[in-house]
Amino acid sequence: MNKCIFYGAGDYAKDHFEDYLREHEPICFCDRRAVEGMELCGLPVLPPSACLEKYPDAPILITVNPLETKPLVQEYLKCELGIPAKRIINWTGYDRSLSCGFLESSAYFHENKCHMCCSPFMAERVPEAYFKANDTPQQKVDIFVNLRDSVRKALRTGEQCACSDCPEIKEMWCLKEPQITFIVPMFYNICNLKCIYCNHIKNINNPDISKPSEFDDIGFWPIFLELRSRKFINRDILVQLAKGEITVHPKRKEILSSLNGFKTQILSNLVLWDEALEQHLSLGNSKVLCSVDAGTRETYASIKGADYFHQVCENLKRVVKLSKLELKYIFMAGINDNDKDVEGFIRLAAEIRPNSVMLSRDYRDLSPLGDRVLDSMAKIITAMNNLAIKATTLGGNLSKNENERLALFLVEHCGSS
Ligand code: SF4
Ligand code: SF4
Repeated sequence: MNKCIFYGAGDYAKDHFEDYLREHEPICFCDRRAVEGMELCGLPVLPPSACLEKYPDAPILITVNPLETKPLVQEYLKCELGIPAKRIINWTGYDRSLSCGFLESSAYFHENKCHMCCSPFMAERVPEAYFKANDTPQQKVDIFVNLRDSVRKALRTGEQCACSDCPEIKEMWCLKEPQITFIVPMFYNICNLKCIYCNHIKNINNPDISKPSEFDDIGFWPIFLELRSRKFINRDILVQLAKGEITVHPKRKEILSSLNGFKTQILSNLVLWDEALEQHLSLGNSKVLCSVDAGTRETYASIKGADYFHQVCENLKRVVKLSKLELKYIFMAGINDNDKDVEGFIRLAAEIRPNSVMLSRDYRDLSPLGDRVLDSMAKIITAMNNLAIKATTLGGNLSKNENERLALFLVEHCGSS
């Protein structure tokens, strides 16, 4: 195994440390922001000058986010520290172009179509391509790759395409050979709740619903294997189970056991505790995202259409023992932006100790953020900072100005954005 310096001692390195250890043996971390005595994952974090003097020939592995920070770190190592590319184990070719993070790294596969992003607020129409009934997995992968490459090319040459007017588009560093790091099989969507902001889910109590298809059972895996054999994905791929509730999916056992060994991100309402889920989570490669959206039983029931607040709280305690957990709070003005719910949610987070908290709002609401929502967000973020729980906001349905206003408000009121 290669002994090397891990360059980059931030959250990304911490979150991916176990992945790096599969192929690399760290000597130490190195980081420009290192201060005396600093450690990460049990290793010393040295500033570049001390590190390069101590280990003048050791290979370097860059351990920062490959899409956002790595190109800048490469430039810094090469141009300011004079380190040749060949000394960097995971040197990557980039170019600068108009694009978005989804386009560069994500893949959504349905039984009959594929696309690169999901949210309806991203753009009026998202680029997608359809499969024919008898397309082979190879043809489906070709269709996906052609779609992605044609959009990337159009953005580079200035041609009009489905992404051209999307607010997510910005100039960014792009991998010359894009890798899929996030994949979402769009299985049969069925749920046991009826959240007021969810308008695309079939409720399990509705007898008039279709059944899972072959895609849920054996249809997705050949596509996955084809992507792997053509090196479009590697074993660090993150598979997300979303759009529907896995704990009531009739094929949950098969789906979850097929994903054993892969990193998964599971969106679940955690109303039910399922044996297959427990077994999958106990492998330690998962993160569960659960939208609680309330701090009281009454508000939970009014948003979710069922009185399961206490049951969900108990299941959250089981999840944190087995996997990473992100609690979500989707704000709806006049419904859950009151002190009682916000304080109840803060108490819940203090008791459960999730790894992170994500604040957003109903994606259908396109109005400017109200003062109560802003105050409530600031209150939760301040409380999470005090509890040393990472808190973030997702402003996907906010205009650029509104996002800037939110960031400014949070810097002023909590010292972070
Ligand atoms: S630019 Fe917008 S529409 Fe295009 S892939 Fe990204 S988020 Fe989706
Ligand atoms: S729990 Fe999720 S899938 Fe189920 S209704 Fe609510 S938002 Fe939709």
